[in-house]
Amino acid sequence: MRLAVRGYISQRLPSLQEKFNQLHLNSGEVEDIGDEITKKSDGMFLYARLVLNYLENKIFYKGSEVKLSVNELPKELSDFYRKILTQILVRLDAQSVHRVRSIFCWIAFARRPLKKIEFLSAISFSAGDPDITHLVPTYILDICGALIEERRDNTLAFIHISVKEFLQSSSSGLAIDKKEVIVEHAHQDGRLVSLQNPLLRKELELALWTRSPKGLESGLQTNRLSNHSIPSTSLPPQDGISFMLAAYEESVKFLLSQNDYPGVSTEELESFKSQFRGSAFTCRLSSCPRATLGFESEVLRVDHEMTHLPRLQCDFPGCQNPPFVSVQALRNHVKKYHVAQPARKSIRQVADASQITFENAAEQLVNRANQIRNSGNTSQIDSPRLMSGSIEERTR
Ligand SMILES: [Zn+2]
Ligand SMILES: [Zn+2]
Repeated sequence: MRLAVRGYISQRLPSLQEKFNQLHLNSGEVEDIGDEITKKSDGMFLYARLVLNYLENKIFYKGSEVKLSVNELPKELSDFYRKILTQILVRLDAQSVHRVRSIFCWIAFARRPLKKIEFLSAISFSAGDPDITHLVPTYILDICGALIEERRDNTLAFIHISVKEFLQSSSSGLAIDKKEVIVEHAHQDGRLVSLQNPLLRKELELALWTRSPKGLESGLQTNRLSNHSIPSTSLPPQDGISFMLAAYEESVKFLLSQNDYPGVSTEELESFKSQFRGSAFTCRLSSCPRATLGFESEVLRVDHEMTHLPRLQCDFPGCQNPPFVSVQALRNHVKKYHVAQPARKSIRQVADASQITFENAAEQLVNRANQIRNSGNTSQIDSPRLMSGSIEERTR
């Protein structure tokens, strides 16, 4: 491990070469600096990286200062974070410090890692002004750059999990706190629910219901019954907020399908497409992790949403059919496959009734399935692909 870290340091040192040359450090001295960082890193890449970033950003007058600085480096990471944080904050006025704090809070307490563009939007709108024409500039991230990084999937994160712990500790001087950010982040249990306006409150309650498991189930079923097919499954918006969300998704869908758009450069449009590809088809269950990071198509979205619905298993002995997502679908299935003349004998056995009719045999099976469903048995999850295939077949 130590060797690997040494290799990494050797790779990074050339980028500091110009600085070292000007400080009259010879190659032997640069080697020694590399060895010293390796020793202090003790096999930790993160530490080596922090030290090199630190050396890159520091103003040295003499070569001896570089050596001294490396020798005196804090052994513990938190000491190191404190040193970096001090470097960040010392140049800033009170308002800017407050903003840095807000930036750290968004990264520390977002429900899921935010993509860079989502983060910039969050910061832009969190001040409460809806009249935003431009997002906040990206250089605000460079200022915190030593502690934050952009990952390969465009999300922002602290360079190491321990940074968050450090920032939460009182010794950091910032002591970021999750409770404080509830209002700024507009968590469901915070600002939104404390709405005073009864009309807004009602809209919110409706929207929350629409995006609850029951709301999703009812939306998908109503729609399926009226359309008799799976591909077209956009839920009819039942409240203002869902309507707004649907309109937003429509706009994203439209832009994703464009090759050029007036006033937008090809580059900007491509960047939009790559960042928002999953924003047009999000899961309509608010508690789902995919509620904001969606899918690339309607079909994938619906396949996924189906996995949230309770399953109704056909109870007929020996029936291998995958579970159904609506009572009606199960009823149709039972009528079609289990209540035909030749099967009558076996139904009688199951139903344990001597005077059985087609209708009540079907009812019994459906009731039994309902019991299972109400008892919360939603296991036997088939692959979503299989599920929707079977629904399509049964509802035809
Ligand atoms: Zn979901
Ligand atoms: Zn069956």
